[in-house]
This record gives sequence, structure tokens and C-alpha cells, in this order.
Amino acid sequence: MRLLEEILEFNKKFVENEEYKLYRTEDKYPAKKVVMVTCMDTRLVELATKSLNLSNGDVKVIKNAGAILSHPYGSILRSLVIAVYLLQADEIIVMGHYDCGMQSVDTDKVINEMWERGVSAETFRILKYSGINIKEWIHGFDDVVQSVMHDVDMIVNHPLIPKNVYVHGLVMNPENGKVDLLENGYDRRLKDARGHL
Ligand SMILES: [Zn+2]
Repeated sequence: MRLLEEILEFNKKFVENEEYKLYRTEDKYPAKKVVMVTCMDTRLVELATKSLNLSNGDVKVIKNAGAILSHPYGSILRSLVIAVYLLQADEIIVMGHYDCGMQSVDTDKVINEMWERGVSAETFRILKYSGINIKEWIHGFDDVVQSVMHDVDMIVNHPLIPKNVYVHGLVMNPENGKVDLLENGYDRRLKDARGHL
């Protein structure tokens, strides 16, 4: 049986056995009023939330490769804006992790793979003349701490994110779930408030 068939078969039994009842939540709003941006790393699928005592129904989770905010008006920021304005989130956590696949991506290797898997010279030429630097586009980050702080700064300074939203920065060890605190959003709010006095 191939993966999709296994998935569908399991799902049928899951529903029949009413296992979904374990995951039922009050409603679609995050009970802990928090939204988290983190990485799609397989080690973090459950670890990212369970190690922080965030269960089904507690948190909105947005994921991509590296928890990278590459554009202030990209899909991640849009999701954050929706979480804040429509889904009652008043805290944002950006959580990167050590040993991330987006750290020091070997862009030449990826481009070679693209060649080998049939992306044509013509495609690369069109991208180049459309102003898309494929190497920059693939490149992740060199330092996870800098990357998380870049995300935090982008959110804190974003014109559509209200100033009373707390923005925290964390980095997780994917081996044991331990987090290091990079940015405590409560402290920043306090500092910002004092700065205006
Ligand atoms: Zn990662």
C-alpha cells in the first residue's frame, strides 16, 4: 500500500472510532490567544507545541522552511494579521531551531539538483531576466539567532501589527525541546513605553 492509501485507510478508522474526540476544541479561536511562527522541520511536528504546553486549540501555528519572514507583505505576515485581527491572538511567538535545514543552504547544490531534475536553461534565463535571483531566493540564513531577531523586528515594526501585541523570540533545541529566550515581548513593550516618556 502506498502512503496516500495508508493515510486514507487510517483516516477512515480514525473517524469511525471517534478518535477525533481527543482533539476537539471549544472553537476556532486559540485558547491561549497566541500565534506561533516556526519551522516545518519534522522533529518539531509535535515537539514544538508539546514542549511548550500548547495543545490542540491553544495556539495558531504557521510554518515554513526556517520560520523565515522573507517579505513584510508575504503570506506569513498576512496570516499573523488575520490571527491578530480576526482570531483574537494578542501574543506572537517566533521560534527558530538549532540545526535547521535553512541554515547555510548550499544553493549551488540545489541549483544542480534542479538541472538534473529537468529545470531547463531557458527557465533559469527567464528567471534571471525577470529580476529573480534564484540563489538569494533559496538562501536561508547564516545564523538562527539573527534570523529570529530579524523576524521579531519585522513584526514589531510592521505598520499593520498593533503596538499592544507582544512579540517573543525563541530558539529550540530539536533534540530535547529546550528553548532559549531571545526576545521577551513583555520587556520590549516596557522599554518602548519608557522610551516615550
Ligand atoms: Zn528548520
